Amino acid sequence: MNLLRRHPIAIALVVLLLATAIHPLSPLVDAVTGSTPGDADLDRPILYVMFAPLSNTLDALTFFSQVRAEWALAVWILALGAWGALRRAATPLTWQRRVVRALIGPGVLLLLGLAAVVLPRPVPRLVTDGVGTVIDYHAHTNASHDGRPGWTLAKLAAWHERQGFAATYVTDHNIVYDGSLPLPEGITISLLPGVEWSVYRQHVVAIGPVEAVPRDSFGESTARMVRIFAAVERQGALSIASLPEYWRNHRDDLGAFVVAGVDGFEIVNCAPKALGFPSDLRHDVIALAGSHDLMVVGASDNHGWGQVTCVWNLSLPGAQGFRTNRVFARPLALVQGDRGGWPWAAAITQPWFMLRSLSWSERASWLTWVVIILLYRAMPRREGQAAGLGILARSLGRSRKTSVPNETPT
Ligand SMILES: [Zn+2]
Repeated sequence: MNLLRRHPIAIALVVLLLATAIHPLSPLVDAVTGSTPGDADLDRPILYVMFAPLSNTLDALTFFSQVRAEWALAVWILALGAWGALRRAATPLTWQRRVVRALIGPGVLLLLGLAAVVLPRPVPRLVTDGVGTVIDYHAHTNASHDGRPGWTLAKLAAWHERQGFAATYVTDHNIVYDGSLPLPEGITISLLPGVEWSVYRQHVVAIGPVEAVPRDSFGESTARMVRIFAAVERQGALSIASLPEYWRNHRDDLGAFVVAGVDGFEIVNCAPKALGFPSDLRHDVIALAGSHDLMVVGASDNHGWGQVTCVWNLSLPGAQGFRTNRVFARPLALVQGDRGGWPWAAAITQPWFMLRSLSWSERASWLTWVVIILLYRAMPRREGQAAGLGILARSLGRSRKTSVPNETPT
């Protein structure tokens, strides 16, 4: 009881780590069948597992749909701020000290968010026993207006290579990548030709021997827009309807897409605006694609921000249509659009899903860190000892000018 009273957060975390182990989520899910792929898994670097609490948290921040991210941030900032301001201190606090303490938690949170977007770190890699090519269908470089500055072909290729991809199509906004540019040294994966066309309220990824199209002739109406599918086909290339546009703007036009000759649909796209894609609609689109033998694909839609992909495709040699790919996704990305996944509860459900999808090695790493920090904090300190987190935490609670030796732990 004493332990629970003195370290409530650590004990709560241990209980959560054990409870979520009883209802685990597979670290990888086949987005078409919903089952755990038997022949594919995530290979996590040692450093990733060693610092699993940080690795998993940064991944979980990356796999937020936009609306859930906004809710979670608002709730966490308010909760952390209130906790910092109202927490008991050893000595009475001035209001200035309370404001400073209220800002620490939200500040750390914003730094974590920034780290998720830009901090280079070890990342999981897809490994498969089966035949096939691990491929991405939709990714951007700095040639796109919204690509990260300095995000070159070489950096894009390295980003994919780290995560187990053998190939990616390069699909910048309205700029054809034809693969004819001499590639810089050291690129070990295949960069394949493609483009992402912006047409009437829809983005269309075209892959293969793509050429320029008169984009204006696919504007102004859905009826004109869907003609781009035939135009892409005449080039000998394939067209894929992108997320989130067909979900947001053309939900009732998907039959017309099929009639006009679309070759496939994205069913997972890792961009925050696309991660909210409703699971119900994903099922409908998979059924539609299945009945017309069209491709379904996962898209990192990488723009240079974020270190991890939420989805991989395992493309089977010689396969066509609906059987072209198996689509493997991180479960946290798939649940973003679940029915009943109330966005306002994201502050609680995102950590819950994150903890449920931990592997055993990651769970062991979390528990080890909790024990290390508990032991460290429980260590008795001698008078005048300068270093240590406990001392730091206590010094935040009192004015810097006064010095109180022999203070009891707060
Ligand atoms: Zn894109």
